[in-house]
Amino acid sequence: MNQHPKDLKLESWLVTAGRSSELGAPLNVPLVPASNFIIGRGREYSRDDGTPTWEALEEVVGGLESGRAVAFASGMAAIAAVFDQLPAGSTVVLPDDCYQGVAGLASAGAERGRWTVRRVALHDTAGWIDACKTADLVWLESPSNPLLGVADLEAICAAPRKAGAVVAVDNTFATPLNQRPLEFGATVSLQSATKFIGGHSDLLAGVATTKDEAFWHALKKSRELTGATPGTLECFLAVRGARTMALRLQRAQASAMALADRLQAHPAVELARYPGLASHPTHATAKRVLKGYGTIISFDVRGGAEAADAVCRNVGLIRHATSLGAVESTMERRAAIAGQDHLPPSLLRLSVGIEDVEDLWKDLDAALRSARA
Ligand SMILES: *Cc1c(COP(=O)(O)O)cnc(C)c1O
Repeated sequence: MNQHPKDLKLESWLVTAGRSSELGAPLNVPLVPASNFIIGRGREYSRDDGTPTWEALEEVVGGLESGRAVAFASGMAAIAAVFDQLPAGSTVVLPDDCYQGVAGLASAGAERGRWTVRRVALHDTAGWIDACKTADLVWLESPSNPLLGVADLEAICAAPRKAGAVVAVDNTFATPLNQRPLEFGATVSLQSATKFIGGHSDLLAGVATTKDEAFWHALKKSRELTGATPGTLECFLAVRGARTMALRLQRAQASAMALADRLQAHPAVELARYPGLASHPTHATAKRVLKGYGTIISFDVRGGAEAADAVCRNVGLIRHATSLGAVESTMERRAAIAGQDHLPPSLLRLSVGIEDVEDLWKDLDAALRSARA
């Protein structure tokens, strides 16, 4: 597997990584739909030993995150492999706001007595530094889903921690182009490759990356034993998607900043949240820790859940759909999802795509106005 050379920008690595240098080989990694291989070269069974197609995705994301990667069937499969490492009776610390799947996984394990869960507010850096002294798993997600809180990962990942403790960062919203948790000292960085890496809403995949050799082996073993293996086509598509991630992110991020600014001033909007807005509670941290503010905006519509639902019904170019990080803009009301009762009922999460920003604004503005009428 090739390592990301230090003199190559990540934007160039994305384009070239995961390729064979063998003469006559296909330029791009081929789809290798194999369960087994002829014995003799070390690779025998794909669930145990991987495939060239999975490894291409691992090389791309590993280089981006500055570590060694293991690809999984989904983001949740990668996350579950990290939780799988915990000894019985562990303490897990989660942010007050985080992806509902992770919160669900943590509370399901707690109900079965596998670990206990504590919550710390994402902006409470002192609270996190303190948690590092006693927790077995410090789970961070920054920017968070969907309130877009930004944690001071630089300070938290460098804090002294309990022997053997794991500091994990769900880096899906930032992408490795905006933030590299392993460089700050995190044990493992997680990507739902379903989102920005795939980038086209057509696959499920996840990647866990670490610099810790023993932890890498443990994650790989977990994939082998639980069978949470990625699909061949999914890895192929994720690599293809990753090639354009820098361009997609740059474009969508610029549009998100413009839209957040306008949403903030819109008469139908009570509150707009975006880490790039000076009004955002963790803007100062975001400015210091992140290279870019991302493509997700969450905003509260005046008039409650009903008005927010009407906005979702009235958009056209923006699709009323869940998920994020793709070429197309999608929007949904997050409190409509089970287990999201802590959110304002009229909060809409908008994932900005690569459409023309004025077309997006026309669509959004018209939907907001018609919901008010
Ligand atoms: C989507 C998402 C996940 C889960 O990833 P899947 O690929 O859907 O399993 C985890 N964390 C965050 C922040 C996400 O947005």
